Amino acid sequence: MIHLEVLTAESSVVSTDVDSVVATTMDGQVGILHGHVPLVTVLQPGELVLRTGGEEAYLAVSGGFLQVTPQGIIVLADACEYAEEIDVERAEAAKRRAEQMLEAGAPETDEAAVEAALRRSVARLRVADKYRVKARRRVLPAP
Ligand code: ATP
Repeated sequence: MIHLEVLTAESSVVSTDVDSVVATTMDGQVGILHGHVPLVTVLQPGELVLRTGGEEAYLAVSGGFLQVTPQGIIVLADACEYAEEIDVERAEAAKRRAEQMLEAGAPETDEAAVEAALRRSVARLRVADKYRVKARRRVLPAP
């Protein structure tokens, strides 16, 4: 087991022991188990998967930093939501808004900020979707 803390500016989202974590970093998906070498990396908007005893929990992380020390993993997230907490309509609206702004290409548009908003919304929708598919599999018997 490895200890995991997920913190945002507002709160502690996760403080628990897990078997492993998969995070979306600037170098792609990284899996971290007990005994991982010390590491500091930048998180991209994407999923954070926690695995414990065959159970998985999914979170959407909008960006931030991940640190691995001998004491455990710390995720400092800009924003972070459990998959089941994601407001899909809000994320869809944010995605549409960002796409429309990029399409309109108004000169005052801060493209980098709008692209970041787009990536956050897409990450939230993917995580929410993945969770829904898993939940459905649990409910429906295998075909
Ligand atoms: P929006 O344009 O909808 O506000 P955003 O990407 O600008 O989205 P953030 O700045 O990343 O939002 O986050 C602000 C706060 O709102 C954070 O606490 C974040 O967890 C929460 N949040 C943002 N979008 C969602 C969502 N779709 N569902 C649940 N919580 C969300």
